[in-house]
Amino acid sequence: MQQHSIIVSPEKAQDLEATYRVVRRSIDARQRELKVNLTMLTDDQGAYVPCKSAWKGIDHQVIQPKHLTSQSPIVEIVGLGPAGLFAALTLLEHGIRPVIYERGKEVSERKKDIALLNRNEGLNPESNYCFGEGGAGTFSDGKLFSRSKKRGNMQRVMEIFHQFGATDKVLYEAHAHIGSDRLPAIIRSMREYIIAHGGEIHFNTRWSLPTTGLRSHYPTTPLHHYTILAIGHSAHDTYRELAAAGVAMEAKGCAMGVRLEHPQVLINDIFYHHPSYRTIELVGNASYAVISQVNGRGVYSFCMCPGGHMVPAGSQTQSGVVNGMSASHRNSVYANSGMVVELHPQGSALDILNWQEQLEHIAWEQGGNTTHDTTTHVVAPAQRMKDFVEGIHSSSLPACSYLPGIFSSRLDQWLPEPISSGLRQGFRDFGRKYPGFLTNDAVLLGVESRSSSPIRIVRDPITMQSLSHPWLYPCGEGAGYAGGITSSALDGINAALAIAQQIHR
Ligand SMILES: Cc1cc2nc3c(=O)[nH]c(=O)nc-3n(C[C@H](O)[C@H](O)[C@H](O)COP(=O)(O)OP(=O)(O)OC[C@H]3O[C@@H](n4cnc5c(N)ncnc54)[C@H](O)[C@@H]3O)c2cc1C
Repeated sequence: MQQHSIIVSPEKAQDLEATYRVVRRSIDARQRELKVNLTMLTDDQGAYVPCKSAWKGIDHQVIQPKHLTSQSPIVEIVGLGPAGLFAALTLLEHGIRPVIYERGKEVSERKKDIALLNRNEGLNPESNYCFGEGGAGTFSDGKLFSRSKKRGNMQRVMEIFHQFGATDKVLYEAHAHIGSDRLPAIIRSMREYIIAHGGEIHFNTRWSLPTTGLRSHYPTTPLHHYTILAIGHSAHDTYRELAAAGVAMEAKGCAMGVRLEHPQVLINDIFYHHPSYRTIELVGNASYAVISQVNGRGVYSFCMCPGGHMVPAGSQTQSGVVNGMSASHRNSVYANSGMVVELHPQGSALDILNWQEQLEHIAWEQGGNTTHDTTTHVVAPAQRMKDFVEGIHSSSLPACSYLPGIFSSRLDQWLPEPISSGLRQGFRDFGRKYPGFLTNDAVLLGVESRSSSPIRIVRDPITMQSLSHPWLYPCGEGAGYAGGITSSALDGINAALAIAQQIHR
């Protein structure tokens, strides 16, 4: 088999995709006429390989679990996000029983708490957009790409998502996307698979160090056990417990800012150069990635969600955190992205954690929120984009996708330096480069503070063991070595492989 790359119109691309095996697809929106780059699989005579036989090469059983017995070794996993899930699947392939502790609820129960949150009827600190089955990955946008190709076999991650129900497109799209409506079913089928093959999952179980452990469940477990720590970057209580127990941690570079939302038609006009309705039907709403340098700091868009929604993504009470997601069809009338400024924190891991929490609390107060009994409101502070740049209070706010509600606030005044000045200059730069982008039709919501972990749980680069507690294997986004679904999943796979090597050596 060989590959052949072609550039075609969106109409032609649709026909080819329906008929032949495509191994890569990306959209080229640089010219006035939108084009699609396709890489096709060809046989030895150069003919395109038909779709029917297309996916035969991909075994739908990508995961090959071994049969477990009562003598099989056991590994504890904390957290059932992408890192924990992919670690568990990998352990099964090496004849190791994963025993997983997840503080949140299983996905169908979690959905009810998310619905309450979106109606502004209160945040459950153990069940929200960050905590629960599938972790922050479940109601995420589900964009599946990673900038780093060095972390491991990304294609295998896509094939595993495919095995559990993602569409064929994840196997070849350059910027593959699952969507927050499809992710819960995929996560659920991964869970069912793990349990069917001998893994254990304990929901509503918050792990803490060192009182809860394998030994209480498995008295015969050897003294030296292994714990994969895949807690994500929002478990501030667990971070504090780890720090108090002397687990080696440090502050690391991160980025924080706001969520920005435009009407999607505006983004289509700017980035597709006045597209027809038909073109959008064929290739989907336009997305963008913008970047600038302000006083030596990167200011950039992050996690852009065409046709998406902004959501309350905090996990603590009295905390104003926003993020974005989109459903598989990406067909809302709004386009949002995180707009963040690079930060280089000084001080300890706990210093940056405290600073982040203070900022999130200010955002919560600036949203005009209150707490009545146990109900914490999550209205977001908001300012029109141009008003932010010009330092003006927004006397009215545009309609937007954020369901709990928005409240006019001078984000330009209370966002700390260098975030405020970085965003102001960055927005001017983006407006110059993409006329129409800097507009009062767009709105900013605060704060986008969880785009990356500000903390690293320090580990050995080869064995992946914590430098202070070698039985701990910190991995995923919360360990500070990954950011996003695919890189966290790969990190989970790598942690499981490192342990399998130790156990079977
Ligand atoms: C709204 C939203 C949209 C996003 N969109 C995208 C996207 O499109 N593409 C992308 O690549 N990334 C996206 N992300 C980021 C992505 O979801 C994360 O990078 C990824 O989920 C990190 O995986 P993880 O397994 O390391 O941690 P997490 O997914 O955060 O999972 C950690 C899990 O550990 C559990 N936990 C924490 N502490 C404990 C404890 N003490 N005991 C037991 N359990 C514990 C938590 O409940 C959680 O379920 C988005 C995030 C959000 C919130």
